[in-house]
Amino acid sequence: MIYLDHNATTCLHPEVFRVMEPFLKEQFGNASSSYRLGREAKIALENSRKEVAECIGAKSHEIIFTSGGTESDNCAIRGIARNLRAKGNHIITSRIEHHAVLKTCEDLEKEGFRVTYLPVNAQGQVDPDDVRRHIGQETILISIMFANNETGVIQPVPEIGAIAGEEEIVFHTDAVQAVGKIPVHVDTLGVNLLSISGHKCHGPKGVGALYVREGTPLVPVVTGGHHEHHLRAGTENVPGIVGFAAALSIATRDLRTVSQKISQLRQRFEATIMSKIDGVQVNGMNAPRVPNTSNMSFHFVEGESILLHLDLKGIYASTGSACSTGLPEPSHVLMAMGVPARIAQGTIRFSLGKDNTDDEIEFVMESLMEIIAKLREISSLKEA
Ligand code: PLP
Repeated sequence: MIYLDHNATTCLHPEVFRVMEPFLKEQFGNASSSYRLGREAKIALENSRKEVAECIGAKSHEIIFTSGGTESDNCAIRGIARNLRAKGNHIITSRIEHHAVLKTCEDLEKEGFRVTYLPVNAQGQVDPDDVRRHIGQETILISIMFANNETGVIQPVPEIGAIAGEEEIVFHTDAVQAVGKIPVHVDTLGVNLLSISGHKCHGPKGVGALYVREGTPLVPVVTGGHHEHHLRAGTENVPGIVGFAAALSIATRDLRTVSQKISQLRQRFEATIMSKIDGVQVNGMNAPRVPNTSNMSFHFVEGESILLHLDLKGIYASTGSACSTGLPEPSHVLMAMGVPARIAQGTIRFSLGKDNTDDEIEFVMESLMEIIAKLREISSLKEA
C-alpha cells in the first residue's frame, strides 16, 4: 500500500501508541476524581496541556481539549457569535473553508447572523485588504483558515491577524492542516482562537484542541460539568489527549527534517508529472503551500476513475476533501479559485507523509502516466 492521503488522516505514531496504552488499561481514572487514580489522570491531562501549549507558543491555560477539528471550529465560531450577539451580527469568513466552518456559518445565518464569504484569487489565497474592506460596525468575528485541506495553500494569517487586532475583532483560524506541517506560533499570528486536530499529525482520532487566547470572550457550546476551564464540558478523553500531545510534540520536534524531505519528494513528483503528462495543472502551485500537498487536475479525465485505478494498484489518494467524497459537485475550493468545473472534476489530491519514500513516488508517477494515458484513450470528455 502507498498511502498519499495524509490530509484525510494519518496512522498512529508507534511512540504515541506506547504513551497512550497505560491510559487505555490500568490508568483509566477520571481526571475529576479526587483519589489517586483520578489525580494521576489529572496530572497526565495537565502535562499534555502544557505540551500542546508549548508546541504552538501558548500558555497552558489557553488550551482546551475537544473531540477534534470540527468541534474546535464549532466551539470557536458559535461560542463567539453567541456571546457577542448584542455587539453585532456580522461574521467574515472565506469561500474555501472546511465544511466544519462553512456549515457552522450557514447555520448561524439561519439564526440571523450575516456572513461574508470572501473570495480567493486564482492561487487560492484570501486578500487581507478584502478582509479590511468588509469590516463594519457589526463585525464580531473573522474566521480564516491557516492552510487549505485540498490545495495546501497557506493563507496570509499574520496579515489578517494584524487587521483584526487593529480593529479589535476576534480572529479565529482553523489550523488543522497547518499544525505539524509548518511552524505555528500563536503570538506571531495575532489570533484569538486556533483549531487543531490530533489525527492529522499521527495522533489518535476524536481528539483535538482549541487555543483560546487569554481574555477572548468565548462562552461554551458544550455545557455540563466544570471541565476545561468551564469552556468545554465532558469527561476528558485522557488516553486520546495524552496521545495527541505526544504526536504534536514529535511532529514539532521533527518538523524541519520531515518537511524538507517531503517538499523534495513533492517537487520531484510535480515536476515529473507536469513534464511527462500533457494537460495537467497543479492548483495553487504559485502560492505558499504546506510541503505535503499536491492538488492536480488532469484534463479530459474523471477524478473518480483515476482514483479507482490508483486503488487497484494499492495507491491511496483523494479527489478532494475526504468529507465531500461521494458528493457529485465539484470541489467548492477549486470553484472559488475559478477552476472550470470540467477541470475540477479531474482532480486528485495527493498528500504526502513522513514515511513516503522515493521508490513509492517513482511507482506512483509510473502508475499515473499509465492510468491517465489509458483513461484518455477511452475518454468522452476530450471533445467537450
Ligand atoms: N478543518 C480542516 C481544515 C480539516 O482538514 C479537517 C479535517 O479534514 C477538519 C477541520 C475537521 O477535523 P476533525 O476530523 O478532527 O473533526
